[in-house]
Amino acid sequence: MVDWKKKDSNAPFIISGPCSAENPEQLLETATRLKSLGRVDLLRAGIWKPRTRPDSFEGVGEEGLAWLAEVGRDLQLPVTTEVASAEHVELALKHEVDVLWIGARTTVNPFSVQSIADALKGVDIPVMIKNPTNPDMNLWVGAVERIRQAGIEDIVTIHRGFSFYGDSPYRNKPMWEIPIAMKTWFPDIPMFCDPSHICGRRDLLRTIAQRALDLGFEGLMIESHRAPDEAWSDAAQQVTPENLGELLQSLQYKSEGSLDPLLTDNLAKLRNQIDEIDDEILRLIARRMEVAESIGEHKKEHDLMILQLQRWREIVDSRTALAKTLGLSKDFIAKYLEQIHKESIRKQAKVMNKDEHGEDRTSILW
Ligand code: PEP
Ligand code: MN
Repeated sequence: MVDWKKKDSNAPFIISGPCSAENPEQLLETATRLKSLGRVDLLRAGIWKPRTRPDSFEGVGEEGLAWLAEVGRDLQLPVTTEVASAEHVELALKHEVDVLWIGARTTVNPFSVQSIADALKGVDIPVMIKNPTNPDMNLWVGAVERIRQAGIEDIVTIHRGFSFYGDSPYRNKPMWEIPIAMKTWFPDIPMFCDPSHICGRRDLLRTIAQRALDLGFEGLMIESHRAPDEAWSDAAQQVTPENLGELLQSLQYKSEGSLDPLLTDNLAKLRNQIDEIDDEILRLIARRMEVAESIGEHKKEHDLMILQLQRWREIVDSRTALAKTLGLSKDFIAKYLEQIHKESIRKQAKVMNKDEHGEDRTSILW
């Protein structure tokens, strides 16, 4: 039985290892360096990789299971891999993988989850279930129920973010309210967080990991690789084992980890919403400025003046009217428009003033 809740410690349960097993040396070296941190509870490696496009690296397949099992035995670390079909379950069991996980692209599909559940009947193995890629909690609930009905008692859920349309710094949006609601539904099932697949880039991992701990998540799954930039999958989000050690060191652990919806719900949820909205606003403003620059290029090419008063008046009138219907004050929107206008003109003027070498001759003025 895996001690998911690490009863003797305040520290969260830590799962780490490469996105994908690539060869025996890469797996052994990564795992050895992870082991020496003394902080990793479970070694992960993807053997079959669900990739969006057909010509990407799709995992090394069954031979990787033998490498994983051997590394786990040599280093005395339990190991886990992703299974997406009944055949994967059988092969993973044959190679004595300690824990299985169901990936986000599988949780979305009840047929696949059911065939995995059928393959697990009568088997005693822990199963971790990631959220579905789309923000539909019922699919997640359904996957837990199917695996439970197969007789599996040792289940963990993993929050890895949700796909979305539009701008975000994240590869998958956290939408924290969904794992919190899931925890309310299944209070006894540990909830872990996978910052790697939420962030998609290593510089954001710490913030998301800390947020998860602040919300009372009981474990973290973070991808690591001996040479992250050379990884065959998910290179931008992986860290070296040593960087993982520093990241874990920098986190603050709450004295009591309990994802208690009553405690965490309101303020945390609202703060998360504010963070996400501010992010979107800044990205949209940056996009607006890019378009302003393109307009600058166009005006330069056609010898037009930067400031076209008629157009600006139309903008002010229409935006002020919209702001009024949205309940924003006239004073606020006037200041906002003035600042936006200034910045757009500055951007356009920069484009206009570029000489034949691309240098801004007037940059000193800005
Ligand atoms: C993974 O953990 O490498 C993976 C494919 O994750 P997810 O199912 O969250 O995309
Ligand atoms: Mn990955």
